[in-house]
Amino acid sequence: MDREFVELLNVKIAGCTACRLHQGRTQTVPGDGDPNAELMFIGEAPGANEDKIGRPFVGRAGQLLDDLLAEVGFTRPEVFVANVVKCRPPENRNPQADEIGCCEVYLREQIEGIRPKLIVLLGLFATQYFLPDARIGQVRGQPHQTGPWLVLPVYHPAAILRNPSLREVTQQDFALIRPLLAQSERPPQQPRPSGHSHGPADDDSQRSLL
Ligand code: SF4
Repeated sequence: MDREFVELLNVKIAGCTACRLHQGRTQTVPGDGDPNAELMFIGEAPGANEDKIGRPFVGRAGQLLDDLLAEVGFTRPEVFVANVVKCRPPENRNPQADEIGCCEVYLREQIEGIRPKLIVLLGLFATQYFLPDARIGQVRGQPHQTGPWLVLPVYHPAAILRNPSLREVTQQDFALIRPLLAQSERPPQQPRPSGHSHGPADDDSQRSLL
């Protein structure tokens, strides 16, 4: 994915009013990093700090993500980080199913544009985007092939901040990243449906990555 495409998509996201989350945002948080990264991370939704700054994972959870990345030899600019929804839910509540459905088109554009070898799913919402019935405690640390995408569910950094005992298993899960990258290929370019646009997804297009 070239940077011009990223910037165009970010402009599209910045003007989006497709779901109720646009009402409370300071700004959209589209995601950032290397648009040609082999490794992508998907979280849940922007929090207060992200909403203020416009970048994903910039608070304490972001620092923890950076630390976990550093332990396996990555820096943030080498990967791409995005969230399932691009606007902050009020009071940091969970994103609702219809909001995720509305925002999905942007995440799909990012994934299909980047074509990462491995997508690390940070927490339940990113995990259930690919594995709808999964429970994070049962699937974390287990790579799954979902269509063309190799995904690895792990605990969300915010969950580790709330429960530090989860850090050790998450470090073990992050240790899988290098071996998984070494044995996987970049997925081929995904065919685009005719009439494709950057607008909000309709019902038929939802979960097309699954
Ligand atoms: Fe924000 Fe996404 Fe909702 Fe658009 S669809 S308003 S970008 S959360």
